[in-house]
Amino acid sequence: MISHSVKHHGGHHTVTGSCHELRWGDTSILIDCGLFQGHDKTSEEPTVEFSLDDICGLVLTHSHIDHVGRLPWLLAAGFNHPIYCTPATAELVPLMLEDGLKLQLGMSHSQAHKVIDAVSALMIPMEYGHWYTIDWFADSASWLTKSAELTVDIRFNPAGHILGSAYVEFRLPNDEVVVFSGDLGPSQTPLLPDPISPPQADYLYIETTYGDQCHESVEDRSNRLKAIIDRSLSDGGVILIPAFSVGRTQELLFDIEQLMHERELDSDLPIILDSPMASRVTESYRRFKALWGKEAKARLAQHRHPLAFEQCVKIADFHAHQKLVNRLASTGESAIVVAASGMCEGGRIVNYLRHLLPDPRTDVIFAGYQARGTLGEAILRGDSEVFIDGEKISVAAHIHAMSGYSAHADKADLLRFIQGIPTPPKEIHLIHGEPRTQAEFAQHLRRLGYQVI
Ligand SMILES: [Zn+2]
Repeated sequence: MISHSVKHHGGHHTVTGSCHELRWGDTSILIDCGLFQGHDKTSEEPTVEFSLDDICGLVLTHSHIDHVGRLPWLLAAGFNHPIYCTPATAELVPLMLEDGLKLQLGMSHSQAHKVIDAVSALMIPMEYGHWYTIDWFADSASWLTKSAELTVDIRFNPAGHILGSAYVEFRLPNDEVVVFSGDLGPSQTPLLPDPISPPQADYLYIETTYGDQCHESVEDRSNRLKAIIDRSLSDGGVILIPAFSVGRTQELLFDIEQLMHERELDSDLPIILDSPMASRVTESYRRFKALWGKEAKARLAQHRHPLAFEQCVKIADFHAHQKLVNRLASTGESAIVVAASGMCEGGRIVNYLRHLLPDPRTDVIFAGYQARGTLGEAILRGDSEVFIDGEKISVAAHIHAMSGYSAHADKADLLRFIQGIPTPPKEIHLIHGEPRTQAEFAQHLRRLGYQVI
């Protein structure tokens, strides 16, 4: 009797490079094709080392670069099959790739677009909550042998992680259901609805980024943000928030708008969104309002603009960015700057850090996971000196970490997701996490009687 198997091509015992292959008989489908970052990176140039011979398609759980970043290399290696994802992910992936290709590979606009157009041409958007049947064939010759036994049903469900993010159910020809969680979002965040557990998951492959810790609550995070901002403003200087363009930036803007609305923040304080990509992604968030959570929709009903408020200044061109960095560095005036990238491995935040880390009036708020080996991790760890593009920079700025802005489920959220499945999975596989975290979470699950492989 045929049964499924899963191979991991990244993101098994790491938090970056997600790429899994679900195999049934002689054919398989990929789930995500992400880039390795920080210490997980083994070569300068990303690679697709596995065989594509049997692969008949790719399912994308969401648009973060550690889940889609190897797509150009996948296509270069000969992949030419459908790419299934939600409509919002289909809109965000080209933005993410454009940024990555230009920043990391130094591609020109037209080179990058050639790659992106090729990716977009393969995309098949699928709505949340509907079962779709996909053909399970590696090549067109197999169409000749098409039969009902060789199709698989897939369904995307809101994962609450970022706009368009999904966990995906695969109903195999033997009626077993395999679920890949992608990245799951935390509960109670105001912008996106919480993920709801699947009705059936015989085999669950679940992320464990934060399988060993609990985040501060959403209420605490906004109070803490307010406290850090107050303290920081008392001595002037800039508050830098390195943020991923997708997800965290919008959550932060959302909370800052609330503080403005409650008049808890000086209405003259400039909030600077210095990331053209984050601005474009924020536009996508606004376009896909239908996917927002209840609280976010309630603000819209009050005619508020949670992601496009008056004090929010968007910096578009690089010249304006450079001028602003110089001005802030020389005057010490107060401002909140949200800029990518989230782990400080590129993007405009690096320029701010180079000029403002030596200034004790500067505050840096880390609102997301810092992978091992990244500049963000070194700063967060409290290094008194860091290297930026080979230049030694002293760190006099105040450094803060806020776990409440994580776009990831914490231990309690992960447990809730698992315990919400009516019949316990036959097997739970922990993926997308550091080995120590996974070991601890596995132990916890086993104590609860779950079969963890
Ligand atoms: Zn993600």
